[in-house]
Amino acid sequence: MTSQKFFLYATLFLLTTLFSSSVYAQITITAINVGQGDSVLVESDTHRILIDGGRALNCVADYLADKDISHLHKVIGTHAHADHIGGLVGVLQRKKVDTVLYNGQTHTTLTFGRFIDAIAESDAAYHEPSRGEFFELGDIILEILHPEGSAADYEGHLNEKSIVVRIVYGDFAAIISGDIEQKGELEILSSGIDVSAQVLELGHHGSRTSSHPDWVQAVGPELAFWQAGLDNSYGHPHDETLNTLNKLGVLHIGTATHGTITITAQLDGSFDFKTSIIPENDNDIEEAYPGVSTATIILLLDDQEIDQANIPE
Ligand SMILES: [Zn+2]
Ligand SMILES: [Zn+2]
Repeated sequence: MTSQKFFLYATLFLLTTLFSSSVYAQITITAINVGQGDSVLVESDTHRILIDGGRALNCVADYLADKDISHLHKVIGTHAHADHIGGLVGVLQRKKVDTVLYNGQTHTTLTFGRFIDAIAESDAAYHEPSRGEFFELGDIILEILHPEGSAADYEGHLNEKSIVVRIVYGDFAAIISGDIEQKGELEILSSGIDVSAQVLELGHHGSRTSSHPDWVQAVGPELAFWQAGLDNSYGHPHDETLNTLNKLGVLHIGTATHGTITITAQLDGSFDFKTSIIPENDNDIEEAYPGVSTATIILLLDDQEIDQANIPE
């Protein structure tokens, strides 16, 4: 079972769209495997949004080059930490970017200085968004859930002012959380803004300091994912977070164990996903995908169906 080219497809709704999805309008949300860091690419037929770029200077820029993507409509730096903005430097240096959204925080690191320089030296417009603001990008509506106003004067922990976005595509929605922690999550909830979403990126790499049960429950995701490096020194994702998801019956996967995750959604709200790897030692599907309660999992070997398992409740 060593690094064979397994792909996993989980269909939560319509299997029929799986092999013919290119015929229809769709959105793809890709959690790029950047090791210990975040990077999420959102693509529709007409628009591309990049949220964070991992730590390495050229990792995501190279990934975009491989996909022949030279133009991004929006680039979002969720907050000042290097595992989110480091790779945005390479993207800003090498790609055409229309607008950079950033929360306004300053930081003392070399990486932050490079990030600000890269914005200044690019042709991109710069904007600090605020809760309730939204941007229409073709069929995508990009909603800002957090923070409220600029975080330029914020003196607390940088993670708590991460930009959190809700990507709406017809009846589908996904929330990308940056490194927001529980205080910020509860602040979003108390604002009364709509947080419902089929897909939730867990804040702060699946850390126990994020994913408050009230937050996860209010979002009501069918799929949650985290982005972290294999055997990272922080222990991300933490068991407490995964237990919260298991209790709520939410399927969860992450880049350390599953590689790059690609979610494809339709305007009617249906979606499916594939991962670039299946964990090597996870022969037992229930071990590999704890918390599965609603999905039918189909394993595909080299895009060919080889097995199907109905996961018990
Ligand atoms: Zn981080
Ligand atoms: Zn952070």
